[in-house]
Amino acid sequence: MTSGKHAHATVQRTASGALLLDGTMLRNQMVAAVRHEVAGLSNTPCLATVLIGNDVPSQVYVRNKHKQAQLAGMTSRNETLPHDVSQSQAEDLIGRLASDPKVTGILVQQPVPPHLDGERLLSLIPVEKDVDGLTTASMGRLLRGLDSLVPCTPLGVLRLLQHYGALTAGKRAVVVGRSTLVGMPLAVLLARKGVDATVTVAHSKTPDLVEVCREADILVSATGRARSIRAEHVKQGAWVIDVGISRGEQGIVGDVDFDAVQSKAAAITPMPGGTGPMTVACLVENTLSAWRRQNVR
Ligand code: NDP
Repeated sequence: MTSGKHAHATVQRTASGALLLDGTMLRNQMVAAVRHEVAGLSNTPCLATVLIGNDVPSQVYVRNKHKQAQLAGMTSRNETLPHDVSQSQAEDLIGRLASDPKVTGILVQQPVPPHLDGERLLSLIPVEKDVDGLTTASMGRLLRGLDSLVPCTPLGVLRLLQHYGALTAGKRAVVVGRSTLVGMPLAVLLARKGVDATVTVAHSKTPDLVEVCREADILVSATGRARSIRAEHVKQGAWVIDVGISRGEQGIVGDVDFDAVQSKAAAITPMPGGTGPMTVACLVENTLSAWRRQNVR
């Protein structure tokens, strides 16, 4: 698939010439832009995160979120709860954050320990503070095409495509993975009026995944299956976006076999350095957007 006009002058290419979709660079631009806007606000937005348990990757993600929120000139609060916290204690905390006028955005780091009712916890986040966009109200608004806070990872994928000038209208997009965190909201975003891709959602019960993926002008994988997207899955000239994260002896590995796929792809995300930083950038933007919802009448 040919690309449209690039929004910036210098682009990086992989060894085989594919456009490298640099999420770290774009995150830095987005966070700097938010910082500029935050400097002009009458009070400072505050991001509150709720981290339950001792999951090390979750701790790293939350730390990154605070770091970027602070670089954007915001304040941030990290509320931690032990892994064996009771449902009512977790609900009390989220309820307090919900009613605290100093808190602009609330994010409950996913996943929460299995003994907790995560749906109930999410339901306590007011829609105007739902910076992760995961509540029923935000998701419903997204599906209905109404203005809403959009889940950060799917939004980050779309922003990356748009920034680098991917053509989406009338193109075939295949999203591998159907979670409510990534795959489903991404499919909705790509199919939305204005983006106008024709979207297929694939999952673990999809037969002939290779054939399905090979239809894609835009291929997004969000399964967490390390290097499962190989050259045979990719149409020549496709844009390939890697969301999945697996941790092994070689460190962080994506769903996409980068070395093999880059020679067929027109554009490809690095892992790490692609969709991960974009997720955090969109969280920071969503927090500013939440501030506006609460302060501009
Ligand atoms: P889930 O486990 O909720 O969903 C995984 C999806 O992948 C499911 O729909 C599953 O299908 C599908 N799947 C699993 N195996 C296969 C297979 N062999 N073929 C086709 N489909 C398959 O994960 P999440 O959506 O929460 O996260 C997905 C990945 O993205 C994870 O690795 C996670 O760490 C990463 N992630 C990355 C982020 C980033 O910023 N880059 C942010 C959030 C998550 P089924 O429904 O049939 O089970």
